[in-house]
Amino acid sequence: MKALYPGSFDPLTFGHLDLIERGCKLFGEVVIAVLENPAKKSTFTLDRRIIQIANATKDIKGASIVSFKGLTVNCAKSNNVDLILRGLRAMSDFEYELQIAHTNRSLDLNYETIFLATETHHSYLSSSVVKEVARFGGEIRHMVPEFIAIDLINIYNKI
Ligand code: ADP
Repeated sequence: MKALYPGSFDPLTFGHLDLIERGCKLFGEVVIAVLENPAKKSTFTLDRRIIQIANATKDIKGASIVSFKGLTVNCAKSNNVDLILRGLRAMSDFEYELQIAHTNRSLDLNYETIFLATETHHSYLSSSVVKEVARFGGEIRHMVPEFIAIDLINIYNKI
């Protein structure tokens, strides 16, 4: 089976990476779909986010990367996937994720959304939390892969 894992990944964290690894074990293939959203200003460019993810997932069998604009269901169709994969950290994620899952079903009944619960030790991790810590010079090497930690340190040292 082939799963589509859509997200902003601005940047990818160990929480995302864990989901990708477990998704590949469960389904065989995970297509990581990096969202290009002109309405939302990202910290890292789309190209940089793709390079970061490629570096972090190079040893994960079954993982591949695409970028997309617009609707997730259209991206699912053009990549020939069987399902959409998303992660759940807490109740706060649940309401939003459920709404998105229902919206996607209303647009295309071919795609079920499968949720994987976060590993407990990753439950606090989000791209914004990592950026907040990096901005103030805190330790982030337990939150993101080394390559991404260096990118974050560089970006906030410039400011
Ligand atoms: P989006 O902007 O679409 O929410 P994100 O990059 O923030 O994109 O997240 C992509 C997916 O990964 C979401 O389903 C989110 O719930 C999940 N996710 C993010 N961080 C974690 C984590 N620490 N553990 C498990 N899932 C996570």
